[in-house]
Amino acid sequence: MLGKSPIKQPDEVFNEHTYEKFLETQYPRYQQEKRAKELVKIQVEYGRRLPIYLTSRCPFCGEPKSEPIDTFSLNGFGWGLANYGAGWSADLGLPPKTPGKCRHLRIISYFLNLRGQVPVELFSDKQIKAGPEVPSIMRVPMAASDAIAVIHELPVGRYGEHPRQPRYSVYFVSYFTERSESFAEATKDWGVHYGSVEYDDVDYDLVSWAEGKRLLWLDNNHPELPLVSIADADFPYADIEGDHSPERIITCTGVSVPQPDIISRIMRFFQRGKK
Ligand SMILES: [Zn+2]
Repeated sequence: MLGKSPIKQPDEVFNEHTYEKFLETQYPRYQQEKRAKELVKIQVEYGRRLPIYLTSRCPFCGEPKSEPIDTFSLNGFGWGLANYGAGWSADLGLPPKTPGKCRHLRIISYFLNLRGQVPVELFSDKQIKAGPEVPSIMRVPMAASDAIAVIHELPVGRYGEHPRQPRYSVYFVSYFTERSESFAEATKDWGVHYGSVEYDDVDYDLVSWAEGKRLLWLDNNHPELPLVSIADADFPYADIEGDHSPERIITCTGVSVPQPDIISRIMRFFQRGKK
C-alpha cells in the first residue's frame, strides 16, 4: 500500500496483486449485476479489504479519524462522492463506522489531484465525478469561531503499475468545531444538512489559515502522523497546483468540465435571499 498508516490493517487487506485480481473479476460483474444485494456484497468485500488510513485527528479530543481508502488506483468503486462531505468511503454501501467518543467532526471533504497526468489506465467505461483538484477551505463552516480544519495527503497509484508509485494525490480536509451549536449557526443558510455540503464560498489561501492556526495537518514525517500546527513545523501544502473547477468528469481520455447548472444556482441565490 502507498502512504503511511499507523492504523491496524484488516486481516485480508489487499496487496497490489490481489487488488487487481479482485477488480478484474468483480468490476465487470458489478457493471452487469442488477440485483442490489449482490452489488452491495461486492462493495462490502472491496471496502473490507482496503487499507485503512488516518485522515485527521480531532484538535479538541485528539481522537484519530480513519477510513478505508483505495490508494491502489482510481479504478475502484469509490471516488464518487467528492462533494458530499462525508469522506471517501461514504458511497461504498458500508455500514456506518462507529463514531467513537469524538463529537467534534462535522465535515470530511476530499480533493483528487491528477498532478497533470491523464489516467489512461482507467477502465474504458469508468467515469469519476470529482470536485476541484486543489484543496481549499470552506469559509461558511469556518465562520464558527471555534472551527478548526485538518488537512492530510495520501498518494494514489496507477492500476497495472508494479511496484506501485505515487502518481496522484488525494487531499482530505476535515472540519471540527468544539460545539455543535456553533457549526449549526455558521451553516444555517446552507440548503442542506450535514453530509452534503456546499463548496461555493471557498478560500485557496491555505497558508493564511495555517498561520492563523485554524488549519492543522498530520505530520507525514513521523510514523504516528501526529497533529501539528505552524508552531511545530513548516506548512507542507502551500503551493498545490491544479484545476479549481467545482465539478470534473475524469475518464481514461482526460478530464471534462460540465457546464455549470445556471438555473439551480439562480434558484439557490433567490432562496437564500428570502431567508
Ligand atoms: Zn473530538
